[in-house]
Amino acid sequence: MTTHVWDYLREYENEHDDILDAVETVFGSGQLVLGRSVREFEAAFAAYHGARHCVGVDNGTNAIVLGLQAAGIGPGDEVITVSNTAAPTVVAIDAVGAVPVFVDVDESTYLMDLDQVDAAVTARTRCLLPVHLYGQCVALDRLEALAARHDLVILEDCAQAHGARHKGRIAGTTGKAAAFSFYPTKVLGAYGDGGAVITSDDEVHENLRRLRYYGMEDRYYVVRTPGHNSRLDEVQAEILRRKLGRLDDYIAGRRAIARRYAEGLGDTDLVLPVSAPGNEHVYYVYVVRHPERDAILEAIKAYDIVLNISYPWPVHTMAGFAHLGYAEGSLPVTERLARQIFSLPMYPGLSPDTQDKVIDALREVLAGL
Ligand SMILES: *Cc1c(COP(=O)(O)O)cnc(C)c1O
Repeated sequence: MTTHVWDYLREYENEHDDILDAVETVFGSGQLVLGRSVREFEAAFAAYHGARHCVGVDNGTNAIVLGLQAAGIGPGDEVITVSNTAAPTVVAIDAVGAVPVFVDVDESTYLMDLDQVDAAVTARTRCLLPVHLYGQCVALDRLEALAARHDLVILEDCAQAHGARHKGRIAGTTGKAAAFSFYPTKVLGAYGDGGAVITSDDEVHENLRRLRYYGMEDRYYVVRTPGHNSRLDEVQAEILRRKLGRLDDYIAGRRAIARRYAEGLGDTDLVLPVSAPGNEHVYYVYVVRHPERDAILEAIKAYDIVLNISYPWPVHTMAGFAHLGYAEGSLPVTERLARQIFSLPMYPGLSPDTQDKVIDALREVLAGL
């Protein structure tokens, strides 16, 4: 069987009865939309973070869109973020009419280079949107200081960082609000699409509830626009509610896999992931780096292993973002990484045997370069 970087079927096999019981529970509950499961999941997800509120939404992209709008960020406002991210981070900023402003990333952690933020701030900058990429946090204390210095709102993109911590503080609680995705591959994944915004700001929370529900206060009465229909599906919420109880186990599983890679590949010339000081990494993806990346990906196919690149194109070089006006060469670290990084299989159901097959194949491929 071909080995891919992600697969949910082994987890489904282990959790089969619970998942199907979740579906049964919702179908038999008499309330298929915004019912008890959404409410209970929201309460549990907020509590997991020690946040006051959580609003479940339909996906992670809209979690960012609604988070920005709920915090009052809109047309013409500049939002400082990174180009080394999943495109939806930037799609969401663009979708609210705000202007994404990119800073480069740190060469060892691949995270936003906070030393570049001061120079990127203009009179129109309103928001700092860090991406806790691949499973580890941008330094939360430094973010907070930067936002305070320039009077900026922080919206954390936590789509890849459920349960990640920096100096003990959990991702998602530093800024005004934080956006999460529950896309199936994520550290907390649904069986379909899902997302959430957490916040401890009562006004942002109220805005979020309206924004995801057509802009309505109560049924049939719109109090603000733009409205959206961005509700978290009830079935996905019930699955997520149950899986949230296992989140710490999923993270422990991911860390064990990361340790096995470090043991198996630490003496090769692959650059393995580096945890920044103070970080507790959750390894959403296990990203390695090598100058001969393309040759490695090609050669390893002979072992029935298909690896992935997260992400092959820096956002600022994509045709859809040409209007932002970033020339090739403007973010040199991001561009270099995109040519050299690739991801190894990483998901809780990855068996030690399969992982060893990947490690052995990589060692052979590297030796033959
Ligand atoms: C997955 C992801 C998103 C988007 O989430 P969806 O649920 O797919 O819309 C946004 N930002 C980052 C960093 C992501 O990894």
